[in-house]
Amino acid sequence: PLSRARSHHFFNRGRKIFPSGVTRVTVERQPIPLYIARGDGAYVHDVDGNRFLDLNNNFTTLIHGHGFLPVADAVADLLHRGTCFSNPTEHEIALAELLGERIPAIEQVRFVNSGTEAVMFAIKAARAFTGRAGIIRVEGAYHGAYDWAEAGQSGSPALWGEASRPASVAAYRGTPPSVAEDVTVVCFNDVESLERRMEEVGGRTAGILIDPMPSRAGLITPRTDFLDALQSAARRHGVLVVADEVLNLRQSYRGASARYGLAPDLIACGKIIGGGFPVGAIGGRADVMSVFANDKGRPLLPQGGTFSANPVSMVAGRVAMEAMTEAAFDGLECLGEQVRSGLHDAIDRAGASFSVSGAASLFRIHPKKEAPSDYRSGYATPVENDVTSALSDHFLHRGILLPNGAAACLSTAMTAYEADAIVATFSDFLSTPAAHEFE
Ligand code: PMP
Repeated sequence: PLSRARSHHFFNRGRKIFPSGVTRVTVERQPIPLYIARGDGAYVHDVDGNRFLDLNNNFTTLIHGHGFLPVADAVADLLHRGTCFSNPTEHEIALAELLGERIPAIEQVRFVNSGTEAVMFAIKAARAFTGRAGIIRVEGAYHGAYDWAEAGQSGSPALWGEASRPASVAAYRGTPPSVAEDVTVVCFNDVESLERRMEEVGGRTAGILIDPMPSRAGLITPRTDFLDALQSAARRHGVLVVADEVLNLRQSYRGASARYGLAPDLIACGKIIGGGFPVGAIGGRADVMSVFANDKGRPLLPQGGTFSANPVSMVAGRVAMEAMTEAAFDGLECLGEQVRSGLHDAIDRAGASFSVSGAASLFRIHPKKEAPSDYRSGYATPVENDVTSALSDHFLHRGILLPNGAAACLSTAMTAYEADAIVATFSDFLSTPAAHEFE
């Protein structure tokens, strides 16, 4: 059995000072979270001396794994010269230029400190540009914690409403009712419902928030006709396309929208562009981004932030991104292909009721015969949730951290050895009773 004595000790301390023992909901684990002592490339070591292959990488942030030397060296060098100033630095320009050169949607950019903030400012920018309040979003997708990005995240199936018109539900008790009224929810990959809803609310909608491969909703592959319809309906109604690539920018050198043929007006980035430090970015068309500009006096949308564009995140992000050459992205793509096809083969061999979704360096295993095409088809029943927990537990006891109900990801620190270990561990799980009890 896994020794967790020291993690228990820390959790008991944490419980006294933090509600539920930790300070972000995403690290809660049953029965307790493992406390990490250090990371090293593809692996993390917990405080009890256990070593794990890390398929979480801080929720897809660490595209080079832990302790990536070029970033560590660059940041160490910077630390002695000051970490934040009330003045701009060259570092922010260098990262911005890199993003502008690579990501087609980015003509201009502004930096913030998290994906939540990036999505929030992208929504505000769409509003300031169009003078409209409404937002359209996809059912079940996660876009951070801004009220208008959260509303409509359907919880229990009883609240869903019809698939053609998913209900817009406030995310937490006490949310002002007007928030849900300003948010229209559509089903991913459903062209007809998208077009109908656009006809109804397009005239009062500022932006349609779209993650090209919504992870929390199931890491679902977008249909080309859906993205095409979204793009042209948005154009018809003067609605801005706001891509949330906080997670999926890691899908290619030019990001996920470029990969799937979407041409957003605004794009929110985060995670990998900070090289392991807090970051967010709002990019887009120069005319839309001019809402942040003071050319005509006070900007339509002032944007600040004490730590926005702090040199540490800017330098770490630039160094990490420079190392992500096209060849590095190709390498991750191949490794991802190896893992996904290995998992598929294991499922076929075992005749098991599982499926795999994802692309590039991302994958997710579903206890469903068919990979989901929208949030509803991917929604796990309580029994399926138990299977997913058993799966993560199986991996944990064999030294692999597999995110439970979130996207697993690879890093440039991994090789075919790690890919084989993932596939072998899954194969082994499929030979246990827990893998078949729910069928
Ligand atoms: N959008 C997406 C698609 C995300 O995956 C996340 C984070 N998981 C966010 C927004 C929010 O980013 P952050 O946690 O940095 O606030």
